[in-house]
Amino acid sequence: MSSKFSEIPYKIYLSEDELPESWYNLRADMPIKPAPLLNPQTCEPATLEELSKVFCKELAKQELDNTTQYIPIPKPVRDFYKMYRPAPLVHASFLEKELNTPAKIFYKFEGNNTSGSHKLNSAIAQAYYAHEQGLKGVTTETGAGQWGTALAMACSFFKMACQVYMVKVSYEQKPFRREVMRTYGASVTPSPSETTEVGRKILAEFPGTGGSLGCAISEAVESALNQDGFRYVLGSVLNLVMLHQSIIGLETKTAFDKYGIKPDIIIGCAGGGSNLGGLIAPFMGEKLRGEADYRFIAVEPASCPSLTRGRYVYDYCDTGKVCPLAKMYTLGSGFMPAATHAGGLRYHGMSPVLSELYDEGLMEARTVKQTEVFEAAEFFARCEGILPAPESSHAIRAGIDEAIKCRETGEEKVIVIGLTGTGYFDMFAYERFNNGAMTDYVPTEEDLAKGFAGLPEINK
Ligand SMILES: *Cc1c(COP(=O)(O)O)cnc(C)c1O
Repeated sequence: MSSKFSEIPYKIYLSEDELPESWYNLRADMPIKPAPLLNPQTCEPATLEELSKVFCKELAKQELDNTTQYIPIPKPVRDFYKMYRPAPLVHASFLEKELNTPAKIFYKFEGNNTSGSHKLNSAIAQAYYAHEQGLKGVTTETGAGQWGTALAMACSFFKMACQVYMVKVSYEQKPFRREVMRTYGASVTPSPSETTEVGRKILAEFPGTGGSLGCAISEAVESALNQDGFRYVLGSVLNLVMLHQSIIGLETKTAFDKYGIKPDIIIGCAGGGSNLGGLIAPFMGEKLRGEADYRFIAVEPASCPSLTRGRYVYDYCDTGKVCPLAKMYTLGSGFMPAATHAGGLRYHGMSPVLSELYDEGLMEARTVKQTEVFEAAEFFARCEGILPAPESSHAIRAGIDEAIKCRETGEEKVIVIGLTGTGYFDMFAYERFNNGAMTDYVPTEEDLAKGFAGLPEINK
């Protein structure tokens, strides 16, 4: 073992003073900017005024800002961050030993808060800006429940109302997440519901449906538009969310810089792209400015392969087609991952920023199957102690695979894994895996064609 690595502690902690003062806006350093959001009626780029009807004004500004490199983190947001940040960067030495690899594996752990994931990093910022605007509250959707939980915590801190449309299957299968949200004062409605026009329409068309993220988004947007003093907030995909999540990458870089370590491979799971985008942001910035080179790997489920098998086109962000159109790698807003898919990351599209970087060949992407993901999750839990979220375990799988390659080649590569959260609320999925009842599903070309058939006219 080289001395450089034997000197570093198991956990690299930063002090409170080292918590970043600003978020980093990667778009400022991109020579080719992500494509603008379009107004679905006019198909013209959405203006600040239009976006501000749905989103908080300051957040809409951040969404449109392609030029400001650093955006200061407001003091109340930074103060809240101090409850659970800076997050540790852990040297996974037990995992390395079990894998018998010369690779050096690190993970950035974002599960150290009650909501259990990185989503709180953006929830706090979004609740804060809504509060500053003098709003009464916000509406949102949640799938597995992590985003809703994070937003409920953030809203209770800033004394804002929080209305969550929760995908019906999750509402029924994850009662504990629902109750955490209610404990923090949020109201939770199973989606599709009778409370919105779009919900009633979907229920009429598909009675008994378990709902989807795209459908819950439509309901949350409609509900925000129909209530005075409310705006809609979203926990992934948007540029503004990735901006807030840059805190993950900034802290990671500070921790590495302290020990003079330069990572070779940076790996994250990709649902809507916010944690991965945030983790890689400062490193990708260096790559774009020609200062350093890194390999970046996005890992997605084989059952919902937006980057690896999707198309890079304008698409609807939601089933009800009420949101602006975004140019992104997408499977089509009508795409539904198989019901047997447990591992989260079910959104049909991908962050426009990551989509552009991937399209330019600056980032790699690969898929993994869910049984391989849970194998990696259990292996990791037994080595490193943390019970990882199924989403995070996609990145763990790829990290382990890269470390095994290093064993074969003898290379001492430095691998960083984004460990986005804990899996305590996913024990039904773990149970299925432990019982040997978990199956893998990979959509056929025909399955994908159905999703592509629903892409908007504008692409034709
Ligand atoms: C939501 C979530 C993800 C995926 O979302 P991204 O926007 O792609 O980061 C990954 N891990 C956990 C634990 C999550 O809650």
